[in-house]
Amino acid sequence: MAAFASLSDRLTATFRNLRTKGKLTPADVDGTVREIRRALLDADVALEVVKQFTGTVRERALGDEVNKALNPAQQVVQIVNEELIGVLGGQQRRLEFAKQPPTVIMLAGLQGAGKTTLAGKLAKHLKKEGHTPLLVASDLQRPNAVTQLQVVGEQAGVPVWAPEPGNGVGDPVRVARDGVAEAKRKQFDTVIVDTAGRLGIDAELMKQASDIRKAVDPDEVLFVIDAMIGQDAVTTARAFQEGVDFTGVVLSKLDGDARGGAALSVASVTGRPIMFASTGENLDDFEPFYPDRMASRILD
Ligand code: GDP
Repeated sequence: MAAFASLSDRLTATFRNLRTKGKLTPADVDGTVREIRRALLDADVALEVVKQFTGTVRERALGDEVNKALNPAQQVVQIVNEELIGVLGGQQRRLEFAKQPPTVIMLAGLQGAGKTTLAGKLAKHLKKEGHTPLLVASDLQRPNAVTQLQVVGEQAGVPVWAPEPGNGVGDPVRVARDGVAEAKRKQFDTVIVDTAGRLGIDAELMKQASDIRKAVDPDEVLFVIDAMIGQDAVTTARAFQEGVDFTGVVLSKLDGDARGGAALSVASVTGRPIMFASTGENLDDFEPFYPDRMASRILD
């Protein structure tokens, strides 16, 4: 994945050096941990996450499991792999569906994070799995967000609930509530609520998102974050966690350039799992996120 290309190259090179050694001295371990630390920081992983990660790797690498291993270098790589899976959230987490349909999935995130695109991707994915989704256009902030959702809805073959044109600015909370009511009436089994995002964290926007959350009582709240956001990942994620208490994370633009450290920071600092990955502008560029597979790709 492009977002991890450089991190992956750096770690692979570090481990290649390590493998040339037989027994590992504490100095070898320290050297390796230092290189891992630099690689993670250069990939824009948040400092607090890097510190914790390298601290645990170092402690384990100096311990008995490596000392007694037949192949100490291989054991260190294994430890890094395990810890990486942990940082990425551990087990894969799937969407939880409501016992009583419709299942309501709300999307939140900064403007440009990829929410509207994700709404279409998720709708298509759910439809393919036999669900009957309804898209709800509660982003009334951005002038053409409603039209954009209607376009992706059409591409996905999924209907869109939107405010009537000409109704002035409109009330996004009401649109969300009406959309869910419509889904109940027409027996859609899932509702995806797209919400507004601003360029930076904004109290008014957060209140609006929080009001929508209260009004529709979603089963899942997905926080969509651009994997290229860099060092702002942690502050942004924490603000949205406080504002809308999201249940899962979606990483978007993983096809982008090579500093996708946000991915490694967000699950770790919020304790919320990364559930999906968005990897392009087309509706099919989307996949469930598997921490173990991602760790293998990074360390491959
Ligand atoms: P929103 O403001 O959060 O609703 O964001 P949009 O869904 O409008 O996405 C913003 C821009 O990013 C659009 O030009 C999308 O085509 C693009 N985009 C969304 N997801 C991805 C992705 O996974 N990869 C790439 N390369 N572009 C994406």
